[in-house]
Amino acid sequence: MSDLLLPASSSSSSTTNLSGSNQPNQPRNHKRHKTTHPPPSSLPSVIPHEQHERHLQLRTLVSTDISNGRERFPIPCVNDIDKERAPKFKYILRPVPRSQSVALALSSCEHTKCNCREGDCNNPRNCACAFDNQTHSHMPRDHTLTYIDVPVIRECSTLCPCHSGRCPNRVVGNGICVQLEVFKTQNCGWGVRAAQDIPQNTFIAEYSGEILSHDEAEARKSTSGKDGNDSYFLETETLDELHRRFPADGSPGEDFDTKYVLDAKRFGNVARFFNGSCSPNVRKEKVIDRNSEAYPVRLAFYAKREIKKGEELCWNYEYNKTTQRGSLDHHLTCYCGALNCQGVLY
Ligand SMILES: [Zn+2]
Ligand SMILES: [Zn+2]
Ligand SMILES: [Zn+2]
Ligand SMILES: [Zn+2]
Repeated sequence: MSDLLLPASSSSSSTTNLSGSNQPNQPRNHKRHKTTHPPPSSLPSVIPHEQHERHLQLRTLVSTDISNGRERFPIPCVNDIDKERAPKFKYILRPVPRSQSVALALSSCEHTKCNCREGDCNNPRNCACAFDNQTHSHMPRDHTLTYIDVPVIRECSTLCPCHSGRCPNRVVGNGICVQLEVFKTQNCGWGVRAAQDIPQNTFIAEYSGEILSHDEAEARKSTSGKDGNDSYFLETETLDELHRRFPADGSPGEDFDTKYVLDAKRFGNVARFFNGSCSPNVRKEKVIDRNSEAYPVRLAFYAKREIKKGEELCWNYEYNKTTQRGSLDHHLTCYCGALNCQGVLY
């Protein structure tokens, strides 16, 4: 069997070096590339003013859908800055183990499963999945989260008998429900912007990628060439690790290398393009749909505040003990432009 358990289907388009969000967006060639599309010849001639208006509306679409039909809504990719084509990676909706050994270790982790009838999953007394959720509530109709002071959100899984569209305990599991667009930013490589207004606390996207073991991640980091790059790494934690790091009794937690890392460089979803900012409008939450303490939590992004159509989506990379993005020996400059910018991404 193949060592790689991921689908071989490809996403978007051809070429290019990385400059996705999490590739820390080094400033590039900022020259604006003028669009020069002539109006289609089949259209009737228009007066110069209308022609000018229409010209302004034309955008340089480098991909009509970077998800290749996998998401509910297409995610177009636009470059009005230069001639770079859509980034090349394989689109996967959810994190997937990279190797047989990781897949085997994770396959023994049971899904959460309740025995609820419709509507019961918001009752922690009856629902095994909602048992932990005494301080938060997921709203499937508008995909929002309320009461956000929980370390981990536990959702119903595909094994639960409740209705996936009506269960109040499924939001991340149902996938992206807002319209997004990938675009080339002036200073920060590729980014993602809202293609609709997004209310506060709405689920936006999960961070998808290959699930690597710590050793696999170390090996990949030290490899030169196309895989030797940790700029799309995002550490995730098992519940067991979370408890060790943040003990319930408030005592000081342990510090250690996490068992699993997500790498979105070759396989990922739209969240790999979210840029970092010192004034973020998106925040990261931990979500789990397994009973096992050994399963890595899923990382989900929610609107920190109301986000207007056209705004870029950014989160705080939070470089600290629990979140590793790159190594400390190469700090990268932040170009977020916020008044409170700390000047360093990580
Ligand atoms: Zn339930
Ligand atoms: Zn359930
Ligand atoms: Zn449920
Ligand atoms: Zn900044």
